Amino acid sequence: MELDGGTFAMDLRSDVVRRAWQQVTEKGRVDQELGLELYRDAPMNELCILANHLKERRHGKNVHFNLNLHVNTTNICVLACRFCAFRKGPKHEDAYALSTEQYLDRVRPLASTIDEVHSVGGLHPEWRIEHYEEIYRATKAEFPHISLKSLTAVEVKHIGKRSGVSIRETLTRLRDSGLDSLPGGGAEILVDSVRDRICRGKESSEEYLSIHRTAHQLGIPTNCTMLFGTVETMADRITHLHLLRSLQDETSGFQCFVPYPFLPDHTRLPEAQIPTGQEVIRTIAISRIMLDNIPHLKAYRMNIGDHLASIGILSGADDIDGTVQQEEIMHAAGSTTPQNTGLEGLIRLIESTGQHAVQRNTIYTQFEPRTLKNLPRTRNLPVAG
Ligand code: SF4
Repeated sequence: MELDGGTFAMDLRSDVVRRAWQQVTEKGRVDQELGLELYRDAPMNELCILANHLKERRHGKNVHFNLNLHVNTTNICVLACRFCAFRKGPKHEDAYALSTEQYLDRVRPLASTIDEVHSVGGLHPEWRIEHYEEIYRATKAEFPHISLKSLTAVEVKHIGKRSGVSIRETLTRLRDSGLDSLPGGGAEILVDSVRDRICRGKESSEEYLSIHRTAHQLGIPTNCTMLFGTVETMADRITHLHLLRSLQDETSGFQCFVPYPFLPDHTRLPEAQIPTGQEVIRTIAISRIMLDNIPHLKAYRMNIGDHLASIGILSGADDIDGTVQQEEIMHAAGSTTPQNTGLEGLIRLIESTGQHAVQRNTIYTQFEPRTLKNLPRTRNLPVAG
């Protein structure tokens, strides 16, 4: 397949993919109607070729990753979303809630090898904003080089409500205490009838968008996500992508979109569809085609595994997340992705697909090409176990 813009369309055999490419070149984006048609009918090979072409137009052969650590603050949660295998009741034997010192103890052993802590948790029944302010201040004081990517939209809403302060004030105070960005979790599907079935009591679609809009207005960049394969329709997924794209038109505050399929272990959603590998890759490709204004798209290997992630980065994704070290949320639901892949393993995964590994910072403003050949052996970096 010829990837040059001028001859690309002539080589497409599928009518629907050809029309999508025509809309991209003439109008800059694919509309919802054609997006749904693509999702339903496009042959997989041509869909992925178009998505990869759009990825390469923006990023060339670069695939990004970072050196990060996941630290969840608590698994105690006042809600009980039906897809969630992570949350526990306060009296459960495996329930935990980290103090500031316990949080720092998790960061300390790896602090010199990472530049981001990704930190989310349940909706703790007692914690107020002061607890999060203290964690962020202490982390920044001890590790000023670490970027704090923390809190889902529903956590922001819960913290504000528990503390009697508005969303804007909650985000402002947390930003001022060290919060750098939001990871984007909790979007699920931004259609309220679906949310009512899978996560009743969580923030509404409009609240999710509004919290991210406020974060963007306050200069806090965010990611956005989509949990697919529960009870939603393909049309619901396209609506979700459309809503994110519309907010991005308004704010330009989203950095990266992260689609991930529902994993069923220890959840309470027997009627879920459970996406196939083909559907995961198809969704990555459709997301790249629809989200023309969100620069980065992640093949989240902690959820979909290294094999699908390596196909995902040839089908529209330009990011595979980071070193992570310890992931609980996806693994509680059945993920078997290795958790200690490390820098060398990430580079090997990317290079095995013929792409170029590029280390990035959290907010995609600093980039450093990496190859197995130029990997410094003397630095204390986490490597594949
Ligand atoms: S998804 Fe989040 S809000 Fe829902 S039950 Fe799990 S931890 Fe709680």
